[in-house]
Amino acid sequence: MDRYRRCFTKINKKNTKNYCRPKVTLKPLQASLPSLSLPFQPNPPSSSKMSSSNDYVPVDSTTLIMDGWFHERGPLWPGQAMSLRVQSVVHHSRSPYQDILIFDSTDHGRVLVLDGVIQVTERDEFAYQEMISHLPLYGHPCPRRVLVIGGGDGGVLREVAKHSCVESITLCEIDSEVIRLSKEHLPQLSVGYGDPRVEVKVMDGNVFMAANPGTFDVIITDSSDPIGPAGVLFETPFYDAMYQALAPGGVVCTQGENFWLHTDLIKPLIDGIKGKYSTVEYANISIPTYPSGGIGFIIGTKGREGDGVRRPKRREEAREVVEGFKYYDHEVHEAAFVLPAFARKAIYGE
Ligand code: SAM
Repeated sequence: MDRYRRCFTKINKKNTKNYCRPKVTLKPLQASLPSLSLPFQPNPPSSSKMSSSNDYVPVDSTTLIMDGWFHERGPLWPGQAMSLRVQSVVHHSRSPYQDILIFDSTDHGRVLVLDGVIQVTERDEFAYQEMISHLPLYGHPCPRRVLVIGGGDGGVLREVAKHSCVESITLCEIDSEVIRLSKEHLPQLSVGYGDPRVEVKVMDGNVFMAANPGTFDVIITDSSDPIGPAGVLFETPFYDAMYQALAPGGVVCTQGENFWLHTDLIKPLIDGIKGKYSTVEYANISIPTYPSGGIGFIIGTKGREGDGVRRPKRREEAREVVEGFKYYDHEVHEAAFVLPAFARKAIYGE
């Protein structure tokens, strides 16, 4: 089993019981805060004490709503949680793949949660959707055929559609319920489905790519975290499958977790693929409601020796920059690849 997945499995196992059925009631913090004397470590040590079996238990995300707040506790961010105050629950159900919760928050707009993990909030989703889309798209000189894997909320589609050079956009989402509910409850994101270039496939992204070799100029994997249906999207074979599905000169960009929490998981993944892709780079952005306030992207290129995507290959039309983007521009594009020393060392071994 891929080390990356094994590590996630171990974390998943260690914390699953707390994660799925929170036992503690939230006491006033002052009373319970232990005096922390641990030396600061950017990453929780992946302890060998964690067992290796994977007994992922489906989540009922409504159990994470306590005292009028939603608390994002999770095995992938042990010992911390993002909490959002709940105004009202809009929808809650279980699809064949995951628990789906949509609620209105008091200060972050509408929120989509899958298996207890925040996917988007209306307040800051643009940061993620723009950067996971425009880093690879402006990192390619002329992207015509684009594949989005996951991305059922439609936010990435909305951003890809802003590129007039793109001729076709295929979305491959495993869960039709996410698509249906996003169209019904998240119009700010699902507007992307209205573009005539968009074709939707409801299936496993892995399976779809195997049937479409050498096809896409850009592949964007906007997946949930590696627990549940997205587990396969964080394994080396999946990156091999993306490579095969890329046309020569193509670029892949995937949700790459967080360098405060997961560098001992990100590094094996990058090490496992850098022999195949001509370049592999890690970019990072700020987004308040993702764990530790940020998220990264693993970006690989095919057949472009040494010519990664750190600098844009195209200058966007003035209209797109002025009207369409709230986070992305060319300076931000280049800055996203500048990592703090501890993260650069942990990810690249420099
Ligand atoms: N922006 C969010 C984030 O960073 O966590 C992810 C948004 S999107 C809702 C994630 C989507 O990936 C979900 O709709 C989920 O159903 C989909 N997904 C998970 N595994 C998949 C797979 N193997 N093939 C296709 N889609 C998948």
